Amino acid sequence: MNPKRVAILGSTGSIGRQTLEVIAGDDSLHACALAAGSNWQLLAQQARRFRPAVVAISDPAAAEPLRSALPGGVELVCGPDAMSQLVRLAKCDLLLSGVVGVAGLIPTLAAIECGTNLAIANKETLVMAGAILMPAARAAGLHVLPVDSEHSAIFQCLSAGGSNEVRRVVITASGGALRDLDDLAAEEATVEEALNHPTWRMGRKITIDSATMINKALEIVEAHWLFDLPAEEIEVLLHPESIVHGYVVFCDGSVIAQMARPDMTMPIAYAMSYPRRPSRPVPPLDLPSLGKLTFAALEGRFARAVALGYQAIRQGGLSGAVLNAANEAAVEAFLDGGIRFGQIVPLVEEVLHRTPAERPITCQALLDADAWARRQVAEALSAGGSRRVWPAGQNQG
Ligand code: NDP
Repeated sequence: MNPKRVAILGSTGSIGRQTLEVIAGDDSLHACALAAGSNWQLLAQQARRFRPAVVAISDPAAAEPLRSALPGGVELVCGPDAMSQLVRLAKCDLLLSGVVGVAGLIPTLAAIECGTNLAIANKETLVMAGAILMPAARAAGLHVLPVDSEHSAIFQCLSAGGSNEVRRVVITASGGALRDLDDLAAEEATVEEALNHPTWRMGRKITIDSATMINKALEIVEAHWLFDLPAEEIEVLLHPESIVHGYVVFCDGSVIAQMARPDMTMPIAYAMSYPRRPSRPVPPLDLPSLGKLTFAALEGRFARAVALGYQAIRQGGLSGAVLNAANEAAVEAFLDGGIRFGQIVPLVEEVLHRTPAERPITCQALLDADAWARRQVAEALSAGGSRRVWPAGQNQG
């Protein structure tokens, strides 16, 4: 049988590199196309190792050095539209989107137009545009497979019952780098402290999202679109051990959970091999050695951050785009030293509250909302940053 042809957006990132690691160990998969932002050195290395038919680089300045470093027979596309061109040229069986941020939106929509099944790690695209992306994928009869570990877990658990038998789904949260700090101390966390995640090694943006817990707000919206669930049927619990990635509570009171070591190659491999379960040389969980697993409700700043996800679903319309863009802009400002850690959530909250009530939801309306939210953050920063910071222990959830 011919191997499944997988195109990877963000091949040089944390998800992309782990995706290639899985492909390297599985003859049933072939990396037929690779795309990155500006890291041409690593992209060239990957092209020499995996021999894709086409590679894409978004940064025009990286095109020339990449061209001379590529092996023969690999087509190169470059510039802001490069990922969409790659998706069209690649004629792949599956697009694995591991790019970060809204850069993933247009190429993902292009993949749907081409009739390509999707495996999505790039949650920002789902949060922003689930309202147009999911119906388009469904109408085209395509799979939208989750790569995020929590959503992969829930996806796997959902097969234990019918959709009308689900009472609620539960996403677990490690608590991020600052989980042991109280709310006041966390406000002043440095970039280095916020990037020091206890369990997962991920890109900078998602690591900050984990520290603020906005990652879980995004994941609530992601679950809403992926599984067609209302806000009140999606719950988040703190689970510092990161062993139970998610679970589903069914109408008979049964709880079906998915458990695994915290290792992103598992959900990545699962999505790429779906509907078959891949056989992999990884040691299974040793439950007796784990001792106890703990779960707790979110409080204080964590509950406040997660409330943004529920709010975005309930407000509907352009709120997902605004939540995502305001957060991307605020995280960038924090990483650049423009705001304190404690200002990220209040800034996003302020912008989300003011979401324009425009309809219908089109791709252009979403892009406009994205640009609007980024301007709101920029204006707030030039006016001296968000005035509101959370009082310790405050819970708006
Ligand atoms: P990284 O920052 O490690 O990687 C981001 C990737 O996107 C890089 O390959 C980067 O290229 C590429 N990229 C960035 N901007 C552009 C652009 N404009 N055009 C083309 N490529 C671009 O992020 P992660 O791998 O950690 O995360 C990727 C996505 O997966 C995020 O949405 C995240 O939320 C999600 N996710 C990640 C998890 C993880 O464990 N890492 C877990 C669950 C979800 P370059 O290297 O050239 O800059």
